[in-house]
Amino acid sequence: GPAPESDTEAREWLAQHADGTQLFIDGEWRKPASGQWFDTLDPATGAVLARIAQADGTDVDAAVAAARQAQAPWAALPGHARARCLYAIARLIQKNSRLFAVIEALDNGKPIRETRDIDVPLVARHFYHHAGWAQLMASEMPDRAPVGVCGQIIPWNFPLLMMAWKIAPAIALGNTVVLKPAEFTSLTAILFADICRMAGVPKGVVNIITGDGATGELIVRHPDIDKLAFTGSTEVGRKIREASAGSGKALTLELGGKSPFIVFDDADLDSAVEGVVDAIWFNQGQVCCAGSRLLIQETVHDAFIAKLKERLTTLRVGPPLDKAIDVGAIVDKVQLDRITSLVEQGRSEGAEVFQTQLEPSKGGYFFPPTLMTNVHPASTCARVEIFGPVLVAMSFRTPDEAVALANNTEYGLAASVWSESINLALDMAPKIKAGVIWINSTNLFDASAGFGGYKESGYGREGGREGAFAYTKPKWIAAAKPIEEA
Ligand code: NAD
Repeated sequence: GPAPESDTEAREWLAQHADGTQLFIDGEWRKPASGQWFDTLDPATGAVLARIAQADGTDVDAAVAAARQAQAPWAALPGHARARCLYAIARLIQKNSRLFAVIEALDNGKPIRETRDIDVPLVARHFYHHAGWAQLMASEMPDRAPVGVCGQIIPWNFPLLMMAWKIAPAIALGNTVVLKPAEFTSLTAILFADICRMAGVPKGVVNIITGDGATGELIVRHPDIDKLAFTGSTEVGRKIREASAGSGKALTLELGGKSPFIVFDDADLDSAVEGVVDAIWFNQGQVCCAGSRLLIQETVHDAFIAKLKERLTTLRVGPPLDKAIDVGAIVDKVQLDRITSLVEQGRSEGAEVFQTQLEPSKGGYFFPPTLMTNVHPASTCARVEIFGPVLVAMSFRTPDEAVALANNTEYGLAASVWSESINLALDMAPKIKAGVIWINSTNLFDASAGFGGYKESGYGREGGREGAFAYTKPKWIAAAKPIEEA
């Protein structure tokens, strides 16, 4: 196979941070007030990758104060001046794409082919797209104002991309941010802070605070934050909703999912098999909109499962910098144990478990691509978001049954419908309660399309018009007129 991606540049960058990373507050790097750091591990080996600063209340206060100070002048800039910063960020991301891709792969465990070809390009695209909104704000949203200071908390599955989804619209529309990456994957956010400085983003506009859930809570409860934007688990999302209730803060939540992948008997089965691979084995299945529930029309169930098993055995699991692998490592041991126990529970509830054979472990947190059949719709593995490379399959007889099964979930993030009949697919789409319906496709993302959930998958949209509007609030300005004109 091809030589593994070189990690020389990334190792140099890590060596520069060997004393521990710092916090990016008011345009400069600061040691954490607590004097505390925690280890972040390389999921492919279990070895320590870096020491990450643990921010406490003093740091969060300083970051929010910097963001507050910077907000009015940033919002007062003409849109084209803010756009220039976003364009510069996008170009610098592209210029440093290899370094970003390698660090992201090392930190998260995901394949370099994915960080290089998907995460990093989508990040650049997000900043290019929102540079447009910065310029258009005055003409397209004359009756809207920035929300103000935004507290943003993100998960570990797409560290860089989720950060872009948060920061790009916020700063484009005249807000300033205090962002906290997930504790397992802080590195690309730290690298990004330097990019902001190089791009000429004024100090205080972007502040990056690292830490764990306790740091996140400090952001959530901070009295001088105007809007909270959170992506993560439904459980933490619920806590944030409760903690911020009555605080007057605007709130958007992007939470979990258990998205259906529906295959009708007239579908192109070979394409649908490739769709499944992308839906559940991309990013080790650690995808909020993963097609994790496979619903197959009874007449083709056995044939489809046979094809899928054959394809599954060809997936290569291995270290993220190996360009030939399809599936990397799970982000952390806690997640690996959770996936393992959910699969075992599925087995004990009667599911048949089909897995690839992993090579003898060389350390690291690997889990084989897994297919569970004979799954009862009410069983745990059919209901709970496993957030790993685990697919559960069920069958249906009629389109109505498919709709009922698809909607038989507390979530509603995405759905994928496979059929050669466009009438059938277009009939299904409005009946499925989910924020995006992909027809004969899956995992299509675009900065110009609003992404977000129904039901327990959250509320608000990121990307598109909706996502841009979520970083503004209505403002009608009326001036007194001379009485004779009235
Ligand atoms: P998580 O909820 O455990 O953590 C997310 C972030 O919240 C982390 O930065 C964490 O430090 C912080 N946090 C933890 N406790 C907190 C608290 N009490 N107050 C404030 N912040 C707190 O989620 P995770 O395990 O990192 O991510 C996986 C989840 O994210 C999955 O459920 C997945 O579906 C979801 N997700 C959703 C989307 C979407 O767009 N809907 C995208 C990606 C991931």
